[in-house]
Amino acid sequence: MDHKNLAKTGVLLPAIGLGTWQYKAGIEPLRTGISLGAGFIDTAESYGTEEVIGQAIQGIRKNIFLATKVSPRHFRRADLIASAEASLKRLRTDYIDLYQLHWPNYTVPIEETMGAMEELVDNGKVRFIGVSNFFVSDLKRAQKAMSKHKVVSNQVRYNLIDRTIESGLLDYCQQWNITVIAHSPLANEFSLIGAEDRKQVINKIAQARTKTPAQIAINWCISKKGLVTIPKASSVKHVKENCEAADFQLSPEELRLLNQEINYRCRGSVELYLRQIARKGLQYMGKNQ
Ligand code: NAP
Repeated sequence: MDHKNLAKTGVLLPAIGLGTWQYKAGIEPLRTGISLGAGFIDTAESYGTEEVIGQAIQGIRKNIFLATKVSPRHFRRADLIASAEASLKRLRTDYIDLYQLHWPNYTVPIEETMGAMEELVDNGKVRFIGVSNFFVSDLKRAQKAMSKHKVVSNQVRYNLIDRTIESGLLDYCQQWNITVIAHSPLANEFSLIGAEDRKQVINKIAQARTKTPAQIAINWCISKKGLVTIPKASSVKHVKENCEAADFQLSPEELRLLNQEINYRCRGSVELYLRQIARKGLQYMGKNQ
């Protein structure tokens, strides 16, 4: 398994970890992934998968990099601390490696939220602070609100058919050494990627390299500097396939074909701004938290 730096922490993260949203497959696929070097597991208090991860990591906790998330409705200090305690209990551990804000919440002062996150680091419950689904402006606000620690990662959607982070966020994170954790590298449903690949570029590259199409899609993600990814897989077969997606390097020509021949979405700054305004509006109305 290839590894990448987690920001400037000195910690090396597997380039491919294990996502667990909508995961219902028990401990075996997780244990397989861990044994193949993908000892980086992502969950969230909202996924309902912290308990199964807690079981899967019993006895091997020290070999695992455990990432979970707090939901925006818990961004007040007392709620956030209580959420972290509840996650620790479900995960059956006494520390979280990476605690992430799942989405921005514009109705809670960011200073209060980041202060609570820093408190968790100071008392040893959390090692590193991350965020998720943050735009550049959200990241800047979060970083400014912190006095002792840094935001080390931003978990955002990135795959062959949604390349929105290329419109500014990826550059920003690379420039400031914030690791990008690419979620949904297989677009949540792999056939959606195939549907946008009219010339069958992925299949052709996969055949030429004796790799599978999913391995090509995952490898394309991790070809980016400062970026790791967390595909979710429910079977031992898929987990093995995904873990073996890091042991080769796509050539410049293969990358060019994947970049140019597959239809993709890349939301620009105006669209992103409008989506941020819409999210703020919904949150102030008590929705979308
Ligand atoms: P994904 O990893 O892009 O895709 C999962 C789908 O791909 C499942 O249907 C899975 O099937 C299939 N799959 C996995 N390996 C495969 C393979 N080798 N060949 C063919 N199909 C394969 O989807 P995701 O769950 O949306 O994203 C991954 C993780 O990112 C999540 O689990 C979660 O941890 C994180 N995430 C975070 C956010 C956020 O807001 N921060 C949002 C979405 C996701 P099987 O399950 O049958 O194996």
